[in-house]
Amino acid sequence: MNVEDQVAQGEVAEHDARLRAHLAGHDELCPMCEYNLRGLTGTVCPECGEALRLRVSLSEPKMAAFLCGLIGLSVGFGFSGIILVVAVVSLLLQDFGGGFPYWVLVALVSQFVIEGLAMWLWLVRRNWIRRRSRGQRWALAAAAWGYSIGLTVLFFTLVS
Ligand SMILES: [Zn+2]
Repeated sequence: MNVEDQVAQGEVAEHDARLRAHLAGHDELCPMCEYNLRGLTGTVCPECGEALRLRVSLSEPKMAAFLCGLIGLSVGFGFSGIILVVAVVSLLLQDFGGGFPYWVLVALVSQFVIEGLAMWLWLVRRNWIRRRSRGQRWALAAAAWGYSIGLTVLFFTLVS
């Protein structure tokens, strides 16, 4: 066995010892099956068989503003999707006699695509968002809601 393997094996043994020491004195639920792992002597959940690892996580995950903004964008995305489906169905079922305003359909598709892109961008940039200050994060979340509501209001203003 070479030195690197010995070091790696030493680190694994050290980790396993820390895991056992932690579980000896704490109630911890298996993240997979929620079996109480207190007093576990191995490194595998006896209930579901998943390998376990001791790790550090953030005390405040900073997800609230991110999720709030995501919900705002999802609402706009879902809403524009529903209106789009309703518009397409009524277009198919009713005879508008060529009088159907197709630009409404174009506006709806555009809104749906724009909301979808905003949601995708929000998800892709989640770590960047989570690194902003508390005030900035909530400002972004408010902007996401404002964006969704603004686009919807703009649509109805144009249609009515
Ligand atoms: Zn388990």
